[in-house]
Amino acid sequence: MSVNPPVRGNDRIASLAPFGLGAQKPHHMLEMVEVLWENRDSLPYAWRILNKGVCDGCSLGPRGLKDDVIEGTHLCTTRLKLLRLNTMPAFTPADVADIAHLRRMDNRQLQALGRIPCPLVYRKGDRGFRRISWDDALALAGGALRATPPERQAWFATSRGITNEVYYAFTKAARLAGTNNVDLCARLCHQATVSGLKATIGVGAPTCSLKDLIGTDLLLLWGTDIANNQPVTMKYLAHAKAQGTRIVVINPVREKGLESYWVPSMPKSALFGTTLMDDFIPVAVGGDIALLNGVLKVLVEKGQVDRAYVDAHTKNWEAVEAHVQAMTWDDIVRDSGVDKAKIEWLAELYARATTCVTIYSMGITQHTFGTENVEAIVNLHLSRGMIGRPKTGILPIRGHSGVQGGGECGVAPGILPGGIPLTEENLQRFEGYWNTTLPRTPGLTTMRMVERMDQGGIDFLYNLGGNLFAVLPDPAWVADAYAKVKLRIHQDIVFNTSTVLEGADTVLVLPAQTRYEQRGGGTSTNTERRIRFSPEIAGHPQVGESRPEYEIPCQVVMAAFPGTTEQLSYRDASDLRREIGATVPLYAGIETLSKAGDWIQWGGEQLCVGGKFPGMPEEKARFTVLEPRHIEVPDGAFYLTTRRGKQFNSIVIKDHDPVQGGKKRDDLLISAADLAKLGLTDGIRARVVSDIGKMEVNLREADIRAGVLQAYWPECNVLIGRRIDPRSEEPDYNAVVRIERI
Ligand code: SF4
Repeated sequence: MSVNPPVRGNDRIASLAPFGLGAQKPHHMLEMVEVLWENRDSLPYAWRILNKGVCDGCSLGPRGLKDDVIEGTHLCTTRLKLLRLNTMPAFTPADVADIAHLRRMDNRQLQALGRIPCPLVYRKGDRGFRRISWDDALALAGGALRATPPERQAWFATSRGITNEVYYAFTKAARLAGTNNVDLCARLCHQATVSGLKATIGVGAPTCSLKDLIGTDLLLLWGTDIANNQPVTMKYLAHAKAQGTRIVVINPVREKGLESYWVPSMPKSALFGTTLMDDFIPVAVGGDIALLNGVLKVLVEKGQVDRAYVDAHTKNWEAVEAHVQAMTWDDIVRDSGVDKAKIEWLAELYARATTCVTIYSMGITQHTFGTENVEAIVNLHLSRGMIGRPKTGILPIRGHSGVQGGGECGVAPGILPGGIPLTEENLQRFEGYWNTTLPRTPGLTTMRMVERMDQGGIDFLYNLGGNLFAVLPDPAWVADAYAKVKLRIHQDIVFNTSTVLEGADTVLVLPAQTRYEQRGGGTSTNTERRIRFSPEIAGHPQVGESRPEYEIPCQVVMAAFPGTTEQLSYRDASDLRREIGATVPLYAGIETLSKAGDWIQWGGEQLCVGGKFPGMPEEKARFTVLEPRHIEVPDGAFYLTTRRGKQFNSIVIKDHDPVQGGKKRDDLLISAADLAKLGLTDGIRARVVSDIGKMEVNLREADIRAGVLQAYWPECNVLIGRRIDPRSEEPDYNAVVRIERI
C-alpha cells in the first residue's frame, strides 16, 4: 500500500481579467435580466416558486434557494429559464386549430404558444386540434383503453418536473389497466447505471451525498459535463478546490466549463474565476473499460490494491486480477486511447488518495456496453475500498429532478414501486395493497415499445409528458411508429414536436398542472436520494382546465374500468404519500413530508457503509471481469458522439453554448488534425452523413480527440441509429459518420 500523501489540487484563479472580460462564458446577470422580463406579468408568483418550491430542473434539487451542501444561495440560470413554463398563461384553442402550421414549428415555438388550456382532440384528416370537455375526453380515452388488450398498450413517462406521487399513480394506473408496458425516460440516460450498480453492489443509486464532493482527495469527472447540465455543482467544485481536492476530467473533449468557471455567488470566483480541472485524460470514446483495466493493472503491479477490504467485502477479485495482469500495455493503450504514462499518473493519484468520488454521466452509459462501463467504475472503487466512507463513492449524476424517483416509484416494466423485481412474492404483496390482480407478462422498455408501435402492435399510447420524437435515435422511425397508433394521449403542460405528429386515428391532449399547482404539493428525489417536499405554491393561477398530474391517469383508468374507482381515487397528493409510505419501505417517512423544506434521504448519507452490501449475496460486492471495447471506424470515417449545450433535455434554452466558448447548435466539434486531413478550415459548412441520415453543420475546431466528432443533441439524433445496450436496453447515442463538402 502506498504511504505517499494525496496529490493536492491547485486552487488558482482562472484569469487576471476581472469577470473574465473578453472570454466566452455564461453572462449570468444578463440572463437574469432576460428572465425578469419574460416573467414580468407574474413576478410575485415566480419569486414564491423560487423561494418555496423544489427546483424542477436538474437533479440537485434544492429547497427553495437553499441546499444541504453549502451555505448561501442555490440558483442557476437553467432554473430561471425554466421558470416561464410555470408562469406562462394558456393559449387559446384557436392557436392549435391548424395542424399544418403547428408541424412547421420547432419545439421552442410550440412551447412558447403557452400552457395547454383544456382537453384537445385531433382526428386524422382534421384541420387541427379542437376543444372537448373533460367528460368527453375521459370517455374517449376510457373507451379506447377498455377496448385495447394489455399487450397493445404502452405507457411512457418523462421527468419534466414530475413528482414521485405522479409516478406512483401512473405506474399503478398502468398495472391496473393490465399491462407492464410502462417505462420512464431514465431508460435513455441512466438505465445502464441501474443495471451495472445493481449487479455489482446491489443497489442502483448513487452511493454518496453531494457534500462528499467537498474535501474529497480526488474527484474524477468521467464522461460528464456538469458545468452545463448541473450548473451549481461548479460552486461545489470551487469549494472542493479550496479544500485541496484534485479534479481529474476524463473525457474525449476538453470541456472549457470544467477547466475553469466564474461562480457568480462567490465574490473571488465571480471576479477572477476558479481553475477547476487539474488533470485531463483524453480517453477514446468507448475506451473507458480499457483505461480502468489499465489503472487496475498498475495498482496490482505496485501492490496498491486494498487487499484487506477486497478480501473481506468482495468476490471475484482473483479473476479480475488475473485478467488485467494478462493484458498487454499495447492493447490497453490502443483501446483506451491514453498513453501509458497518463494511465500510470491516474493510478498514482488514485492510489495516493485516501478518499475518492467519481461523478459520471452519459459518456459512460450511452453505449451498447454502458452497463459494463458502469461495472468498470465499480471495479475501480472496490479495489481500494472507495465506497461507503465519508467523501468516497460513486455518483452517477442525473440530469432531471424526477428521474431518480421515477424508477424508484416503479415506472419501468420489470419492477414495482420500490424498484423491486416482479417476483411472485412481490406481485402478491402489491396485489394485496392494491386489491387487484397484477399482470405477469413481461413488459416493454421504451425502444421496444416504439419498435412494437412501428410493427402496428400498439393501439393505445399514454405519453406522460415527454417528447420521444426529439430524444430517441432515428426520429423519422419514431414519427412512423407514432403514426401507427390508434389513440395517442399526450398529458402535458405545453405542446412539443411529438404532440403534433400524425396518428392512425386520434390524438388526445390532456392539460396538466405543474408541480407547484397540485393539491397537496409533491415530492421529488434528487441525485443523492434526498426526497424533498415541494408545496403547492400559494396564490398560483388555475391555468385553463388543467388538472393535477397524478389525477389524470387515474381518471382515464377509472373511466375504462369503473371497478378501479376505489383504488385510484385520491383527495390530494398527501393520500398518495401515505400510500407510498405504507407500500414502499425504501420511501418510508415520505408520508411525514408536508411543508416547504421537509425532506428525508433514503439509505442515509452513504450506502454500502462498513463494506456491507445488503442487496448482494453474503452482503459482498462483486468484481466483474470486463473485456475492453475497441471501436473500429472505417478509413475516412469518424465516430460521432453527442453533447449538450444550454438546454434542459430536449428543451433548448439558448442557440449557443456559453461554457464551450459560444458554440452554436449546428456546430460540429472536430480536431485540428482532422480538419487538416480533410483540407478544411474552422467554420466551414459541411454535411455529416451516417447510415440513417444527414445534417448540415459548421465544422468547429476544438480540443477533441482525432477521429472523434461531437454534435449537439437532440438535433443530431437524425444521425444516430437504433442500437441498445442489451442488458439495460439504454440506447447507444453514437454513430459512424462521414463528412462531405457542400
Ligand atoms: S443546478 Fe439544477 S437543481 Fe440547482 S438550480 Fe440549477 S437546475 Fe435547479
